[in-house]
Amino acid sequence: MTRMKPLLERNEQFARTYTPLSLGLPAAQMLVVTCLDHRVDPAIVLGLQLGDAPVIRNAGGRITQAVIDDIAFLAFLAEQLFGRQGPADTLFEVAVVHHTQCGTGFLADPDFRRQAAEATGVPEATLETSAVADPHLTVKTDVERLLASPLLSPKVSVSGHVYDIATGRVTTTLDARYP
Ligand SMILES: [Zn+2]
Repeated sequence: MTRMKPLLERNEQFARTYTPLSLGLPAAQMLVVTCLDHRVDPAIVLGLQLGDAPVIRNAGGRITQAVIDDIAFLAFLAEQLFGRQGPADTLFEVAVVHHTQCGTGFLADPDFRRQAAEATGVPEATLETSAVADPHLTVKTDVERLLASPLLSPKVSVSGHVYDIATGRVTTTLDARYP
């Protein structure tokens, strides 16, 4: 028994009309970093189609070292494989999208954080850095963090946005900037 059964049935529907894509630059020339929250699926919220944009998701949509490493690798890969096909000075834009009502917001509360650390074994300091209490503030922090990383390619720009769970609307907090 698996709860995947209804999802596999949906996949069967999907596969019936599917056309495979070859590996290429993301059609939207975007890479999205956002929260793993199941109310925040960028394919639906931003209307992304297959081949449009890689998406990196974690709790809060935070710019962690692991996320920076992935972005650095993807920029390297894009340049190696497709560097001569795209515009010479740009590869893609990273959109960091945080959201309201984020579950990580509970981690801003010290008691909750201590209990979470005890239950999961994740250090309290790590949990504290993943908390999104005010998405407008954290998205700025994370855009700056990514722009300041020596691993970020100068051909990659970074922008910051907030998704409002109550309205379904995404607003731009920081326009795209190069490092
Ligand atoms: Zn979230």
